[in-house]
Amino acid sequence: MTKKIKVKTPLVEMDGDEMTRIIWKMIKDKLILKNLDIELKYFDLGVKHRDDTDDKVTVDAAEAIKKYGVGVKCATITPDADRITEYKLKKAWPSPNGTIRSLLDGTVFRKPIMTNNILPAVRSWRKPIVIGRHAYGDVYKSQEILVEGPGKAELVFTGENGKTIRKEIHNFKGGGIVMGMHNTDKSIRSFAQACINYALSEKMDLWFGAKDTISKIYHARFKDIFGEEIAKHKDELAKAGVNYRYLLIDDAVAQIMKHEGGLLWACKNYDGDVFSDMLASGYGSLGMMTSVLVSPDGKFEYEAAHGTVRRHYYEHLKGNATSTNSVASIFAWAGGIKKRGALDGTQAVVDFANMLKKSVIDCIESGIVTKDLTNLVTPATKKYETTEGFIDQVALRVEKAMNM
Ligand code: NAP
Ligand code: MG
Repeated sequence: MTKKIKVKTPLVEMDGDEMTRIIWKMIKDKLILKNLDIELKYFDLGVKHRDDTDDKVTVDAAEAIKKYGVGVKCATITPDADRITEYKLKKAWPSPNGTIRSLLDGTVFRKPIMTNNILPAVRSWRKPIVIGRHAYGDVYKSQEILVEGPGKAELVFTGENGKTIRKEIHNFKGGGIVMGMHNTDKSIRSFAQACINYALSEKMDLWFGAKDTISKIYHARFKDIFGEEIAKHKDELAKAGVNYRYLLIDDAVAQIMKHEGGLLWACKNYDGDVFSDMLASGYGSLGMMTSVLVSPDGKFEYEAAHGTVRRHYYEHLKGNATSTNSVASIFAWAGGIKKRGALDGTQAVVDFANMLKKSVIDCIESGIVTKDLTNLVTPATKKYETTEGFIDQVALRVEKAMNM
């Protein structure tokens, strides 16, 4: 029996749903609690408990992250009509991720996990490309009108002082469409700050792309605010060796496709939505993508980028063996533990988190994989582990390292 490593400050733990809830418990029992002396502030964000508490548990969890600084989250169901019937819910509660993101005013960063036997679709990508997606406003909080016939569409702003600004959008001769969207200086600034925090903590170059040549007020405002925040952190960025680059979004896309990686790509909301999916499949599998929410005042929440893997859960309920990839969930735990250790100044905790990640990579690089990776690894394999079998293989390596 090895001695457990003491974690100084509690870690906020958010449990979730379906297959990821099963995986989550295995990781916690076999990899975390066996090796760490850690206090977990537990919040059950499983959909039934959110329903029982009228979603108060989600707000409480977000408050706990604010208080303690670091949280780890299991994937959760965002209920739709089918889920209301399936779980007999009172209503379609909002996405927990959305709730936590807005309470922390956070930005989500997605990072692919790389191994030397899974080659990205783009040959030049040797290091991870991280996407930071601004998660407020633009097309996601827009108003739209279906124009049925001739008429004039205008943009009108009425100030609290009663002053109005009016611009003609288009004088329609026939049918068409109009959309009005917005963003706020505050949200853009928080986004820029979160990107700078992330780039500094990972020591990665930071790129931001928009289309200010065409959108001389809207997109230009993003560029300007980013520039102001960068200027405020000039010395820190220089000291960390982090370079900032503003590019036109089309140029950014072209450069990304021939870049070696190892950078943070800050994206406006829609660009981030689209390009994060492109990167996820470009790097291999959703099961190998991690995600971290960073607030402008430096609070962190780690999770897997994928959902609750519903189809596998239904197989599990039928008693069939599953082979679900737990890598992103293990990395979520490792990310949270590593950040906790770094903030507490406890090197042994940081080392444990690094060793946990390395044990996972070692498994995959020696051909021990779950089913989703069988065709992605070189050489491709027909052999794969069950969900639990893979975690057991990781646990064996962790145990060996702990006894060394
Ligand atoms: P999903 O859970 O991401 O899974 C979609 C498909 O991707 C799976 O059926 C599976 O493909 C593959 N996949 C994803 N993760 C995998 C893993 N770890 N290992 C192996 N294969 C994996 O998306 P969904 O089934 O559409 O959504 C289920 C629920 O998740 C929804 O209720 C949604 O609201 C929720 N969701 C939550 C989050 C979050 O909490 N962050 C994010 C997204 C979705 P095969 O079936 O082909 O094997
Ligand atoms: Mg998307």
